[in-house]
Amino acid sequence: MAVSAGVTNEHEGPTDHTRWLKPQGTLRAVFLFVDFSDAVGTSAELTERKDRFATSVGDWMRSASYGKANLSTTFTSSWRRMPRAQSAYAGYHQTFDGHRSYLQDAVNASDAVVDFRNVDLVYVISPRTATTINVSSALIAPTGLGLMADGVERRFAVNLGTSVDDWDYKLVNHETGHLFGLPDLYTYGQPWPQLHEPVGGWDLMGLISAPAPDHLAWHKWKMGWLNDSQISCRTARGKTSATLTPLGTTGGLKTAVVKVTPHRAIVVENRQVSPQDVTSPCFRPGVLVYAVDTTVGGGNRPVTVLDRTPNNAVAGCSPEHAELGNATLVSVNQQLTDAASGVRVRLTAVSGGNRTVEVSW
Ligand SMILES: [Zn+2]
Repeated sequence: MAVSAGVTNEHEGPTDHTRWLKPQGTLRAVFLFVDFSDAVGTSAELTERKDRFATSVGDWMRSASYGKANLSTTFTSSWRRMPRAQSAYAGYHQTFDGHRSYLQDAVNASDAVVDFRNVDLVYVISPRTATTINVSSALIAPTGLGLMADGVERRFAVNLGTSVDDWDYKLVNHETGHLFGLPDLYTYGQPWPQLHEPVGGWDLMGLISAPAPDHLAWHKWKMGWLNDSQISCRTARGKTSATLTPLGTTGGLKTAVVKVTPHRAIVVENRQVSPQDVTSPCFRPGVLVYAVDTTVGGGNRPVTVLDRTPNNAVAGCSPEHAELGNATLVSVNQQLTDAASGVRVRLTAVSGGNRTVEVSW
């Protein structure tokens, strides 16, 4: 989830880095532990959460970014007391102002022990007994509406509520993805498990708990983790052959893209088991094909995976990602066609981890 003030939310178009955090180089993050008079944190919980996030969040980001984004993390060493009882923050996540107010209180409570001049992004953790603080969400503040401390404004923060226990450290990476301008790929307002229909578990901005949540190549390109030379793009009708290296390896051609309208593209990538993924029968490594729509924001289907096997879920897997777990092209001559544009993608060769595709329009 992300809250923003009076502007369009995260989308799949080019990222405006005057608004969103640039996900490159060393990013200095501080984790603030804050508790409440009616929900007191314990030292055991602080240690457990610190151990859980100390390396996992940064390792995931470093690996997914091919070393282009490095999170330097520090933690406050004790719980700092918030000025109000946790129950007083009810509804904090429903408005920008409520969220900002909660986070500003946390910054104020920690100001004596943190120099915010040395911080690029702020994570705020509350005790699991503070059940009012359940939803975790990202704050992307316009200039002038950020968090103030030590004479500086900090515009990027995430509160980590009790939901972090449901999703573990990858929730932190998901919320950080919003700070980087990535949209939610699950659908707002849909019941479970249908909300995961658009992309299932193929990207961290979709189903966080899926076995293969590495970021889509489109996201890696949007964040500058892939460069233009790693994208084969066509904007005219015709036929292209491209040999794609696995998304999880460094270097090589990663994506074939056909821009079919000014705001819609068909994207082809080679998903083998990335370092961010775990081998699982619930996803079939292969050529993944999806449509990107830059006219809609997060929660409104900005990405839709094309399914080679519609109405055929992988048996025995969680319903949120079982249907698309076998969406990929896995054998030579298997193909997929995007009905709206007529773009056809055919797997023509398999060589080690590489996959050659023919893309026709
Ligand atoms: Zn989200």
